Amino acid sequence: MDANNNDVEEWLSNQGIKSTKDIEVPKLLFNQVIGQEKAGEVIKKAAIQKRHVLLIGEPGTGKSMLAQSMVDFLPKEDLEDILCFPNPEDPNKPRIKTFPAGKGKEIVKQYQIKAEREKKDRSKSLLFIVFSIILLGIILAIVLYKSSPSTAIEILFFAIIGAAFIYILLAMNPAAARIERVMVPKILVSHNPNDKPPFIDSTGAHSGALLGDVRHDPFQSGGLETPAHERVEAGNIQKADKGVLFIDEINLLRPEDQQALLTAMQEKKFAISGQSERSAGAMVQTEPVPCDFVLVAAGNLDAIKNMHPALRSRIRGYGYEVYMNDTMDDNDENRRKLVQFVAQEVAKDKKIPPFDAAAIVEIIKEAQKRAGRKGKLTLRLRELGGLVRIAGDIAVSKKEAIVTAEDVNAARDLSKPVEQQIADRAIEVKKLYKMFTGQGSAVGKVNGLAVMGSSEMADFTGVVMPIVAEVTPAQHPNNGTVYATGKLGEIAKEAVQNVAAVIKKISGKNISDMDIHVQFIGTYEGVEGDSASVSIATAIISAIENIPIDQTVAMTGSLSVRGDVLPVGGVTAKVEAAIDSGLSKVIVPLANYNDIILDEAHKDKIEIIAAATIDDVLSNALVKGPEEEQFLEKVKNIIHPVSKEITTS
Ligand code: ADP
Repeated sequence: MDANNNDVEEWLSNQGIKSTKDIEVPKLLFNQVIGQEKAGEVIKKAAIQKRHVLLIGEPGTGKSMLAQSMVDFLPKEDLEDILCFPNPEDPNKPRIKTFPAGKGKEIVKQYQIKAEREKKDRSKSLLFIVFSIILLGIILAIVLYKSSPSTAIEILFFAIIGAAFIYILLAMNPAAARIERVMVPKILVSHNPNDKPPFIDSTGAHSGALLGDVRHDPFQSGGLETPAHERVEAGNIQKADKGVLFIDEINLLRPEDQQALLTAMQEKKFAISGQSERSAGAMVQTEPVPCDFVLVAAGNLDAIKNMHPALRSRIRGYGYEVYMNDTMDDNDENRRKLVQFVAQEVAKDKKIPPFDAAAIVEIIKEAQKRAGRKGKLTLRLRELGGLVRIAGDIAVSKKEAIVTAEDVNAARDLSKPVEQQIADRAIEVKKLYKMFTGQGSAVGKVNGLAVMGSSEMADFTGVVMPIVAEVTPAQHPNNGTVYATGKLGEIAKEAVQNVAAVIKKISGKNISDMDIHVQFIGTYEGVEGDSASVSIATAIISAIENIPIDQTVAMTGSLSVRGDVLPVGGVTAKVEAAIDSGLSKVIVPLANYNDIILDEAHKDKIEIIAAATIDDVLSNALVKGPEEEQFLEKVKNIIHPVSKEITTS
């Protein structure tokens, strides 16, 4: 049986799942990634063959998870420790040596012991010298005391002073001490013998952190300086040697760094030098340091545009490019995966209790809703995971042993994105100032619906956007003008041009004989309004015909030049906005009807009309009456209605 949208409860009980406690979380990270089968295949193949990968897709769809899971499939290679040694011939070119994993620490330890011993030996011989001088002074003083007591005392005095001077010179002065100091090498990269290959996330790292750096030394001479090799710091490319280097938002990496990364990928070795020009570290450059990593670069579609072309071509030539899924089909198998996802997030968080069946149902429904299309489930799972955690926190604060549907619903309110919070407040303000009445009727005034936010967000936020139209005879005959104010002026003008033919057909009037004024009331930045043409046409027709519009109705839709109502985006959010604003009827494009997925809080709260053509819209929006009837009769003869009235009840 294939899953159907309205039966999530039934489906879950058929599966026999009572809580996320019943669900086993896969051990291997790779198997925890859901809905990205194609990307998964590629990642596996790339790992086995040590190829680079470019993962493009929406944020929070599993790119870094997949990159991380690669380390489980990389070919078994022996990891190496990388050490940096002083170079007596050229102190500014420290030596680089590699050793089997685990050996690095041992070697450094040996050097430390040796240095320690040497230090002890040194202080022993220093004490020996000092005491010998003093002893010599005492003997001389005793011998000379009888013949010349004052000379003897002087000799003793000078012996003591001399010994003290020599002690200070040799022991306290680091320059003198360093002459024989044993230089301990510095560990740049170290592993334990049974470690997995490294996974290094270098997202947002600056040049030094990515490529390695040599620290500045404020004391550059006089014996106080730190030797160059001790100031060398490994970068992420060297730390990722024989493992995976992950860089999200690859386009934000500076072009020089992308170039350097490319060199590192080609040579599989990269010398470390000081990154800041004016620092003493800039004089230092090590021998090449191994950096044989697999690069997983990630980003959204824009990332490709701003990526260094040579770097991209390197990946294309020696690796794979994958586009991540942002939705998956709503079927049995994928629903089960989503249940597994909830269990995973609970297990990962460690602090929140398991979800009961009704809570799981709410999450699946939320995934349906966020997908924005019927028959799909969202894969923007970072955000969905956020909802899981907030619901968990609410359960914890209520001291519940299990998360319930009520908690998920409360979490939904708490986890609203900022855009939605702004919209909520805007609705309050609009209600306060009666920008839309929500009752009665008015000529030339329509409750349009728009969405806020960008496609970056998993879910849009809807707002009611009142539109008013006023029609006057043209000031210049035959040369009517469209006056549109507000931020959406351009869109309004375009929409009026598009609907001119329809208006002419319906009202028999030529808009070039009229001046048309369109105004969007109380719009603010961030509203996308290109789906307002049905609303604009309705407002104008109402104004021309002087037939009032029912103010309890809201509408959205795009209009073709022939009068067909075309689908638009964000319908669920728009219908929710109409409900939240207390309206009683909403008109949506027929083609969008199936995209509406309402949660419990919004279900059965509004009458939904699916409109195929503009006369479907008009017959539902204009206030009933003899004029209206006559007018619609006329319209019907012009455009054939395919009205389909469906209510949610
Ligand atoms: P991206 O790198 O694409 O921005 P991440 O891999 O960092 O996303 O995902 C962030 C979190 O969201 C993960 O830790 C996990 O909890 C959840 N997540 C995202 N995508 C998936 C997925 N495909 N399967 C399971 N969990 C996911």
